[in-house]
Amino acid sequence: MLQTDIVIIGGGIAGCIAAISLVDSYHVTLIDKLAEPKERIGESLAPAAQRILKELDLLEDIEREVGALYQQNLGMQSYWGSDQVHIVDHLRNPDGFVKNLDRKAFEGFLRTAAEKRGVHCIWDTKLYSSSYKSEWKIQVVSNDKNSKPFPIAASFVIDATGRQSHFAKSLGIKRQVVDKLIACWVSVPNTQENVMSTIAAGENGWWYSAVIPNNQRVVAFHTDADLIDKNELKTTESFLKLAQENKEIYDLLNVHNGSIKFHGTVAANSTKLEQVAGRQWAALGDAAVSFDPLSSQGMFNAMASAMQLSKLIKQLKFTDEVEKIYTQQTHQIWQHYIQHKSIFYKAETRWKNAEFWKRRHQDFKVFVTKNAVL
Ligand SMILES: Cc1cc2nc3c(=O)[nH]c(=O)nc-3n(C[C@H](O)[C@H](O)[C@H](O)COP(=O)(O)OP(=O)(O)OC[C@H]3O[C@@H](n4cnc5c(N)ncnc54)[C@H](O)[C@@H]3O)c2cc1C
Repeated sequence: MLQTDIVIIGGGIAGCIAAISLVDSYHVTLIDKLAEPKERIGESLAPAAQRILKELDLLEDIEREVGALYQQNLGMQSYWGSDQVHIVDHLRNPDGFVKNLDRKAFEGFLRTAAEKRGVHCIWDTKLYSSSYKSEWKIQVVSNDKNSKPFPIAASFVIDATGRQSHFAKSLGIKRQVVDKLIACWVSVPNTQENVMSTIAAGENGWWYSAVIPNNQRVVAFHTDADLIDKNELKTTESFLKLAQENKEIYDLLNVHNGSIKFHGTVAANSTKLEQVAGRQWAALGDAAVSFDPLSSQGMFNAMASAMQLSKLIKQLKFTDEVEKIYTQQTHQIWQHYIQHKSIFYKAETRWKNAEFWKRRHQDFKVFVTKNAVL
């Protein structure tokens, strides 16, 4: 049996940052079900994330890769609450510009950094089962069809499996779900000189576009899962038809009709685990709380929660105090987030009677489910 101090399930941003931060004090094992990161949406890295990357001595290496790993985001043009464009730039932000990441390359960079720093990484392998008897015994299994589950004994388990929160779910912990937001996204070559991101509200949701490295642009439409016929989010053609409601977005897509790459629909709703930590375990990043992409804070929160937890563990070891303090911290972040989310959505009043906006102008109702993913 493999013996380790801390096993981290999920090698996305939260899992890698936690592993890199903990490996100077503990033997850390990091597992991820994917052999390598995949293409995904979620590219705008908040300026404050740079402080964390600097603290972990990763920033210089990232900045050397400008153009490949990221490009600077000069600002955002927003059509929110009015037909008039409103420009938000980052010129005066003391932490600098937003970084628009090549998400797959960035996650690959973090995985490599974890390996180089001495984290024991096991890729292409997923959580199978877990049990606790004075320490955790985790069974994991490789994706290879012929392989059998193998055990890892650990003093502490970190669930960094994203909004599916596989480990917490296996303990029977449910999620609070606030809304039913989904995002359908495509990518296209970028040929525009204007590389600002765009956000534009519409009657049934909102549109988003950002330029990422390698002259690519992502475009996404966000709405509630129950407010749209699934066929409208099934193909490039149906996506293009929907985009006709917004001239700016439609123009970005239509010039590249023929080279639009359709990626499909992902969950983008606000959710929180009912219990984010317990006896010698804790959930990080999206596994603990998942944010609306409107906030552009998901990756920063993944990093910040990883740093918070690793500092608590280093200070308090594997005691119950870690559970108590980390739970309070996560609760505060969630309350703060929910208030801000409400303020932003209430600022858009042009379609007060449309169901999508009506839901966001009322006090939200929380429902509890087994799954965050709709
Ligand atoms: C449409 C959309 C747009 C977004 N845009 C932005 C943005 O612009 N800026 C921003 O900051 N955030 C954005 N986000 C949010 C951001 O993508 C997430 O907050 C971030 O990915 C959370 O990182 P994580 O490491 O917690 O989880 P994830 O990135 O989900 O990583 C989880 C990892 O766990 C692995 N895993 C899952 N299950 C298992 C298992 N059973 N066993 C082993 N491994 C497992 C997965 O393979 C994955 O690598 C966006 C999200 C959406 C949906």
